[in-house]
Amino acid sequence: MKPIIEVQQLSHSYGENVAINQLSFKVNQGEVFGLLGPNGAGKTTTIRLLNGMFEPSAGELQVLGYDPRRDGASIRKVAGVLTETPALYERLTARQNLKFFGTLAGLTPSKIMERTEELLHLFDLTQRANDRTGSYSKGMKQRLAIARAWMNHPKLLFLDEPTSGLDPEAAVQVRELIVDVRQKEGTTVLICTHNLDEAQRLCDRLLILRKGAALAQGSLADLRRIISPGLWLEISLFEPFTKINDEWLQGMAGLLKIDVLSNQTLRLEVESQAVIPEAVSRLAAAGARILRVQPQEISLEEVYLRLQSNHLVQAEKEGAAYAQLS
Ligand code: ATP
Repeated sequence: MKPIIEVQQLSHSYGENVAINQLSFKVNQGEVFGLLGPNGAGKTTTIRLLNGMFEPSAGELQVLGYDPRRDGASIRKVAGVLTETPALYERLTARQNLKFFGTLAGLTPSKIMERTEELLHLFDLTQRANDRTGSYSKGMKQRLAIARAWMNHPKLLFLDEPTSGLDPEAAVQVRELIVDVRQKEGTTVLICTHNLDEAQRLCDRLLILRKGAALAQGSLADLRRIISPGLWLEISLFEPFTKINDEWLQGMAGLLKIDVLSNQTLRLEVESQAVIPEAVSRLAAAGARILRVQPQEISLEEVYLRLQSNHLVQAEKEGAAYAQLS
């Protein structure tokens, strides 16, 4: 099936400032795709280019079968957008806001009525639907802004920092609503976020940006393999073991790394699960009483930080080489 978004060698500069640098990626139908990166990495610019709000300096891009250079208006008709600063009319009620945006989206009056009530219910806003949104909490405003973006049954939804500035409870509520409504409506979602825990929970695939260029992309499993090819295990012992050291396991086939974390805990990196029984029996033969063997999943946060810092080390090396040459 043709991807919903296809971007090849996309570049964009604001004057001298290169914001996007030869970026390529695809988003498939039904996916939640995350754009991650530090401030100024180019996430918002990418969304603007995909919506046809700016024209790129170079590259090819296609969104829902349209070219954003020529057909930005057609894309915006069938896609929903939540910007970093959601545009709501604070003097209107939630119901009036949704009806107004339904009219702008070109829905029929009966469809507007039906969809407004449906979204008020889905986003838990029915009870306060007739209050002016100026009186709403930040979390309620954000729920309404996301409901608004979903008004025209978008095939594709762009969410720029959907939980930024919300307290933890409101953020969890917004996140759960996104998961829930997306499943019900089968929407493809492109989301920008600084919250790595949120990205890990929501996204099927991720693109990690730095200075407008891709550092890495893929599922979390793909990204984990980039930074560490093996499987990590934590082995806890029943009691402190004074003889604990890494010699018992030295030379064992399939063992990539050993960290002695304490006199009761070892962390191993192994090639595959098949190595675990041999490691356990060697430890037992050395007299250690094993309490627990737990595979360790590296979090997206760890993957992200390692990729960003590997990049910095690489950039420093290149800088040093450049300084030597010049
Ligand atoms: P943040 O996480 O802070 O929102 P971002 O990843 O969304 O950042 P962008 O807002 O896309 O990053 O910015 C990418 C680069 O382009 C930055 O260097 C930024 O200063 C610059 N930039 C963004 N918008 C403009 C603009 N309208 N005019 C000039 N430069 C801009």
